[in-house]
Amino acid sequence: MPQSYPSIQSFYKRTVPMEKQDGNPQAPPIPGDGFTEEELADTLDPLNRKWNPEREYEELTINQLVPGPKSVTFVGRTLRRRMAYLSMTFLVTANMFPGRVTSDHVMIHTNNSTGWICRTPLEYRKGQPLPGLMTLNSYLRSGHDGVSGAKIAVCVKSIGAKRKIKKKTGSDCELVEVLLFDHTGEVRLSMWNDMGLSPREWQAGKTILLISNPGYRVEYSSKGSLGVVRQTMIEVEPEFPDAQWLRKYAVGLTKKESLCLEFPEGLWDVEAAEYGVYRNFYTLAELDTWVRSDSHQVFSGFINVTIMEMSLVSYHRRNMLMCAECCGVPIYSNALTTPCRNCDKPLKLTLNPKIIGTLLDETGCVAPGKLLWNQRAWEQLFNRTTKEITEMTSDEAKLYEMRMLFLRVHLVVGWEGGVGRLAVLGTMM
Ligand SMILES: [Zn+2]
Repeated sequence: MPQSYPSIQSFYKRTVPMEKQDGNPQAPPIPGDGFTEEELADTLDPLNRKWNPEREYEELTINQLVPGPKSVTFVGRTLRRRMAYLSMTFLVTANMFPGRVTSDHVMIHTNNSTGWICRTPLEYRKGQPLPGLMTLNSYLRSGHDGVSGAKIAVCVKSIGAKRKIKKKTGSDCELVEVLLFDHTGEVRLSMWNDMGLSPREWQAGKTILLISNPGYRVEYSSKGSLGVVRQTMIEVEPEFPDAQWLRKYAVGLTKKESLCLEFPEGLWDVEAAEYGVYRNFYTLAELDTWVRSDSHQVFSGFINVTIMEMSLVSYHRRNMLMCAECCGVPIYSNALTTPCRNCDKPLKLTLNPKIIGTLLDETGCVAPGKLLWNQRAWEQLFNRTTKEITEMTSDEAKLYEMRMLFLRVHLVVGWEGGVGRLAVLGTMM
């Protein structure tokens, strides 16, 4: 399971190779204790050690392991669990010390070379539904009550920032809350202390989790929340048909709901669209018919619309002029860059598409935030650079908004099925 790699990697920390004396490659080597650098590195970093076993190892599955000395190899998933549970739960344990015992070797598979064993749910049989699997809504309504082996397949929607909470006993604990969804609902999952390390590698809108026997907590404000209890198992990125379906559903939903999609550069010939011999003019109704008849086509053209609403002043005041998305949460600011509140990653912000309200022509309208603007189109509309837009004073914003309201503009637009939104390539007043 990918979420457990760091625990192993961080246990066997990589070491910086020893520098030559004075940094000079010609300098004579320092007299040592007879070990070569390779031998020293092997001891310090067992994961890098070449493995040339002298004996035969029998290949077994985990359920074939029996107590006693024997040379065996087996492939398995790693679990991150609280240590206290280990001695309660398992019948056979295998101690491994690759650093000290040369006959021990651990190989970490980070690709799909062991696909079926590392990703397929344990009880899954091809062509049959996974036992105990239910939708999130069914689980929250009644599935949490006395159903043993209940499973839910969910996608990560957002990952909250780590919070420190003081218990009644006075001790401190850390809490990370993860919002999960499927096509039937949403739920919050609380992960305490060391469990909170796992979500760091999950991606909002992408990572799929298969949760078996989640802990359920009654909440008065919602249908309930989830936690990790002793019987809970969370499988990250499981491979089975329901997970594949959910993965596709999540991609579509993110495209539909996301405010700050990245602008796909190089899909349209903007020059030809604006100044070419064949320039197409569409009404909004025609565009709608075109896209619905074949959403996979790529085309560009003009629309002529009236700006019915502007929210420049209100977003400027609320410090929401620019936006970005990270950890599944929209991040707003009036600045060009800001760090994510959750993961501290520095983010480059783009103009908030909701600044422009409803656009109207004689045949239809476009709702706020539904167009995908590129930087060039924004700068043409405002007749200033993005940096200058962020530096507008509130008086300037007010004046500009008054000037733009009810103005009729030509927008150069492009459509591509994969993008799933009408892109604004340029603006002509
Ligand atoms: Zn983030």
